[in-house]
Amino acid sequence: MFLSLKSIELSGFKSFGKKTELVFGSAIAGIVGPNGSGKSNVAEGFRFVLGEQSMKSMRSKKGEDLIWGGSPGLPRMNRAGVKVIFDNSNRLLDIDFKEVVVERVVHRDGQNEYLLNGSQVRLKDVIRLLAGANIGGSGYQIISQGEADRILNASPRERREMVEDALGLKLYQHKKAESERKLEETGVNIDKTKSLRREIAPHLNFLRSQVEKIEKAREMKEELAARLSEYLAREHAWITQEDARLQEEARAEESELKQLTSRVQEARGKKGDSASEAIVALQEKLIEREQKLLEARRESEALARELGRAEGALQSTNVTVEQIVSVPHVRSFARELSDIIADAEKEGDLHTLRSRLAQVRERIKSFIEGLTGMAPETNHEVEEQVKKLAASLERVQKEEASLAGELETLRAKIAETREAGFTAERDLVELESAVREAQGKLSSVSTARAHISSLRQHFEEEVREGIALIGAEIHGWEKAHIPDGALTEEDRKTQEKRRRDIERLKIKIEESGLGNGEQIVREFKQTKERDEFLTRELADLEKSAESLRDIIAELERTIDERFKEGLRHINEALKNFFNKLFGGGEASLKIEEPRKRVKQDADEEGEVMMEEEEELYAGLSVSVHLPRKKVHGLEVLSGGERALTSIALIFSMSQVNPPPFLILDETDAALDEANSKRYADMICELGKKSQLIVITHNRATMAAAGELYGVTMGQDGVSKLLSVKLEEAERVAK
Ligand code: ATP
Repeated sequence: MFLSLKSIELSGFKSFGKKTELVFGSAIAGIVGPNGSGKSNVAEGFRFVLGEQSMKSMRSKKGEDLIWGGSPGLPRMNRAGVKVIFDNSNRLLDIDFKEVVVERVVHRDGQNEYLLNGSQVRLKDVIRLLAGANIGGSGYQIISQGEADRILNASPRERREMVEDALGLKLYQHKKAESERKLEETGVNIDKTKSLRREIAPHLNFLRSQVEKIEKAREMKEELAARLSEYLAREHAWITQEDARLQEEARAEESELKQLTSRVQEARGKKGDSASEAIVALQEKLIEREQKLLEARRESEALARELGRAEGALQSTNVTVEQIVSVPHVRSFARELSDIIADAEKEGDLHTLRSRLAQVRERIKSFIEGLTGMAPETNHEVEEQVKKLAASLERVQKEEASLAGELETLRAKIAETREAGFTAERDLVELESAVREAQGKLSSVSTARAHISSLRQHFEEEVREGIALIGAEIHGWEKAHIPDGALTEEDRKTQEKRRRDIERLKIKIEESGLGNGEQIVREFKQTKERDEFLTRELADLEKSAESLRDIIAELERTIDERFKEGLRHINEALKNFFNKLFGGGEASLKIEEPRKRVKQDADEEGEVMMEEEEELYAGLSVSVHLPRKKVHGLEVLSGGERALTSIALIFSMSQVNPPPFLILDETDAALDEANSKRYADMICELGKKSQLIVITHNRATMAAAGELYGVTMGQDGVSKLLSVKLEEAERVAK
């Protein structure tokens, strides 16, 4: 038979104060020796190196108890170490070495070290490696002294674990436990992730709503940019067009006004005083002519009278001077004298007075002389005078007629001049009103221009405001296309409506009050990414939880199937062994009906929240029917019967899934001779499938072993080991 277990080496472990090695050369190795020599320490050495954590099962309280405590002959040690060497050429252990050395060391401070082929590893690495080879675990494989009936004393649950262990389900159990642990961790992580998501959710929602607002504001800004671009382009074009039009209008009005003003001046010049002056001159002339006419009329009347008189005288031929001297002539002479005398009267100076008197005398003299000259000498003279007078009268009458005509002309001229004056006045009034009208037009043009200029200012302000609100891209308005005729055909109200819409949009943007919100957008992006990451993580976690649940379910199914199958085999073997040991009767392992219990959950206030039923792990019970005995059950078995039943159970368990080796520490202690013989037979049968190390005081068992080791303890308290022959063994054992 292939021997997996090559050797065990104990150094400083318990009573093995000196390094001791046991090399296994046959399927059944027996260890013999007197009480207290250290045999059980060897079995515990196996437990220790295979990873046992229970100090109690190594009959110790703490790690230090496992170290050689010292004796007068050999001082205590600081470490205890046990090594087992496996032949792994058949790859019993899942590790790529032909020989595997498993080693455990414990130090006085209780620290443990685990080594695989000299490299430090973790305990769980050792356990996993060994479990893969159906070694270790619940310990049915190492039956300590007095513990043979442990399987009978164990609780149904523990018993089931032992059976599962024996069936090699430990590996699945490990995997299941690990998956459950992972599932639990995953659950914790799911809860953590969910709670993280819950934590960031309100902030994320807040940020989302902010970003939506920002997005809306951005859209509004884009809309504003487009609207502004069109509005500004139209406004600019309109202002430019209106300005040019008004400029042209102003120019035209100015020139019109200039023309009118000069015409007014001209008209004023024409009308002015010249008309009235002309009229005055004409009137003066008229008066003068009227005077002359009057004089001429008087003269003509006088001449007519004189002519009459002269003609009368002529007729009477007695013409006196008085008759021919004209009265006006005398009057004028008298007036002249009177004037000179009047002047003389004012004079105080005698000399001047005298000269005035001389003047009077001289005048009188010249009058007389004149009269003398005038006096008609004859009728001829009178006739001459009549002719002269008639001629004078005719002349004067002609003059009178001419003066009358002249007067008529003058009056007509005055009327004409006056009429011309009126016309000029009317023209001027009309011109002045035209000037006022032109001035009015000009003033309204300049008001309109001022309005345009204020519109231009407003336009520039709007551009600045637009830049502040939207940025430099607002300059796009300069390139915006305005369809032909759009300005002329469109009502200005449409543009005003555009402006109102823009204002409303601006207010909306301002009300959103978020500016461009880069910070918020960045934060939202980060938080969203975090949330998405958590969502992905959650999905991954849930997926892995799901697959872990599947794995667990699959493992449970496998365990269950194998367990039931294994149990069937164990029961078959048990039947056989029990029958052999007891010569009849029956024993079997039975799966207990899972018990149900009511579970109560309480909330924070201690109120019972819900009740649910929980299925308990179904344990294993042992049913025993001894031959020829009516009573059943474990309780009624004698010590020996208990030992036999246990042995039957242990052996049948190891039959189904034979472990590489089994260590039986005085399991046969309670057997009588007949049963010892049967026990030895069974050992031989077992030895075909597993390597056995049996510690015994029993000769039959010793005889079944292929090799024997004797353990002795000298005066120094150190256990020693020696290979012995059967004959020797019996002696050594005592
Ligand atoms: P039995 O046949 O009676 O079962 P045994 O051969 O199995 O005896 P063990 O129980 O293996 O004997 O050995 C017990 C002996 O080991 C005791 O004498 C005890 O003093 C000794 N021993 C146990 N631990 C230590 C230790 N740490 N240092 C020294 N000796 C120890």
